[in-house]
Amino acid sequence: PAPGRDRLRIAIQKSGRLAEPARALLASCGLSWRESRDRLFCYGESLPIDLLLVRDDDIPGLIADGVCDLGIVGRNVLAEQDLAGRADTDGPRFRELRPLGFGGCRLAIAVPDAWQWREPSQLAGTRIATSYPQLLSQWLQGQGIAAQVVLLSGSVEIAPRLGQADAICDLVSSGATLAANQLKPVQTLLDSEAVLAGPAVDFDDVRAELMELLLRRLDGALRIRR
Ligand code: ATP
Ligand code: ZN
Repeated sequence: PAPGRDRLRIAIQKSGRLAEPARALLASCGLSWRESRDRLFCYGESLPIDLLLVRDDDIPGLIADGVCDLGIVGRNVLAEQDLAGRADTDGPRFRELRPLGFGGCRLAIAVPDAWQWREPSQLAGTRIATSYPQLLSQWLQGQGIAAQVVLLSGSVEIAPRLGQADAICDLVSSGATLAANQLKPVQTLLDSEAVLAGPAVDFDDVRAELMELLLRRLDGALRIRR
């Protein structure tokens, strides 16, 4: 366990879809920060709650390692890394504390437009490209489908056209990117949105009170938004 601290440290995305809405939500909770020159660390002014600006993929690990106390990240990233960590640790290393109502999307299987889609068993024996190997493998296993998972870190949607895969498993919001690549979503694996994530165990120092205060304000802010 990480040593006790007297300030709360929240990891948020440095740039990308969740960066601005995450900051805006925390600001609406009454938080303000003194901007540092490198823009990686923002020192909390109104409350002892600091921000660390990072890549979204790093957020679950930063929480699990105790480098950060909380994080704002997509459920898709949290769930994928939760499964990945199960291999070498016993229990979960982090948990979802609150859904935040932005960054909505779903992790879905998409197949070429020309496919006559009827049921998941059609995926048997195919190659499916994804950046979410754990979530995809778990779903395939649950369905009793043997398919090859092709791990790609980006540009998953062009894999079928390049002949790297037959189908894909990727994040979808409007579906425009899929359509532009002659693909259609046929099966949702996970409904996602940005969430507040925290460690699996409670804090035993002043951070517990800071977190309670933050959650109270967050719940108020989320109630007004909905
Ligand atoms: P980083 O540089 O931090 O790694 P990234 O490219 O991985 O950024 P973004 O594209 O900014 O991340 O997406 C961040 C999160 O936004 C996703 O993990 C997901 O939860 C959410 N999201 C919402 N809609 C979409 C979408 N259409 N495509 C991808 N992500 C989406
Ligand atoms: Zn990322």
